[in-house]
Amino acid sequence: MSADYTFTVAERFMKYVQVDTQSDPQSISQPSTEKQKDLGRILVNELHVMGITDAELDKDGYVYATINATTNKKVPVLCFCAHMDTSPDCSGTGVKPIIHRNYDGLDIRLPDDVSQVIRVEDHPYLKTKIGDDIITASGTTLLGADDKAGIAVIMDLANFLSNNPSIEHGKIRLLFTPDEEIGRGVNAVDIIKLGADIGYTLDGGELGSYEDETFSADGVKITIFGVSAHPGYAKGKLVNAIKVGTEFLHKLPKHSFSPETTADREGFVHPVRFSGLAEEVQIEFIIRDFETAKLQEYENFLREKLNETLVTHPGSRADFRVTEQYRNMKEVIIQHPEITANAHEAIRRAGIPLVSMSARGGTDGSRLSFMGLPCPNLFTGEMAFHGKHEYVSCQDMEKSVQVLIELIKIFHEKA
Ligand SMILES: [Zn+2]
Repeated sequence: MSADYTFTVAERFMKYVQVDTQSDPQSISQPSTEKQKDLGRILVNELHVMGITDAELDKDGYVYATINATTNKKVPVLCFCAHMDTSPDCSGTGVKPIIHRNYDGLDIRLPDDVSQVIRVEDHPYLKTKIGDDIITASGTTLLGADDKAGIAVIMDLANFLSNNPSIEHGKIRLLFTPDEEIGRGVNAVDIIKLGADIGYTLDGGELGSYEDETFSADGVKITIFGVSAHPGYAKGKLVNAIKVGTEFLHKLPKHSFSPETTADREGFVHPVRFSGLAEEVQIEFIIRDFETAKLQEYENFLREKLNETLVTHPGSRADFRVTEQYRNMKEVIIQHPEITANAHEAIRRAGIPLVSMSARGGTDGSRLSFMGLPCPNLFTGEMAFHGKHEYVSCQDMEKSVQVLIELIKIFHEKA
């Protein structure tokens, strides 16, 4: 990269995190919260200043922009994508970012609530960041590095390219989405208008990490119907759905099969909601595995345990509904080996070790991949997200910008 470029990623990041963009799962509007557009407007203005004249915020809360090609070579159109919203799990109002320059390797006490301490013991990654400039929140809110680190990285890339027009590259599309944290990040995306061949989300954690694999995910909703009767005269008639439901849950394995007992490549079955009354209860599950075929096995197991329970409670019955949520993006990405090969090469050229990871969750990229835009996830340095101890290293964000610069050069070279 050009030696005299001064990164703007940290400065941009500090600005973006102060805009409250929390999404709201209870809202049915698009985007779920209007305030997400506040950040969208800032980004569009900054892109216009860089000379990216087609930058726009649409009514659904998406920002689209184009960095025009500087070559006549036929290079695949790349899309860099990040989400603007922050998690509903922790307040994002009044974020006060603090830079801890030349980090000393000690625990970080957050000034606005001294009981909030980012302990090195709990965050071993911090030990590898001594000497870096670490940004944290002040103790009362999350930081919002997830995913404003990704936004700042992409914006700095755009700034770098507008200052270095001699770098040859194909057309690049930028996409900033709302509502990723509530699983609706790509609900209203216009994939045709986006017009990209290959995407990368910038929403990963540690330096050098690259994820081309996510869980495959289904939701299961079970409704158990009991038999209601006046409790004073219910002998031999009443079947209590609450009791049937809890008995069914007790049949699930205690030492396997769940998020709290699995790691790495193991999948799980996880009851996330239990609600209802004596006559009827609903139990909702999320089902996860890297192998899509296993989801069916888990669902069959649940059916089996449910039926075993129902037969011991004559008169009870149940409804069992499966909803597909998302699929492991690897099924798509593997068909385009250059996507991963070029990302690995870009990380190598940026002089950092590759950390190949599988996301035990989904990303916007998992859905985009199945909408025709294969879309793995690159690191930004965001760590400990969704809470008050969230932090990011400025040097990690700068390395992420550098990886993107290498990546667009590699796609140009190989075209
Ligand atoms: Zn995220």
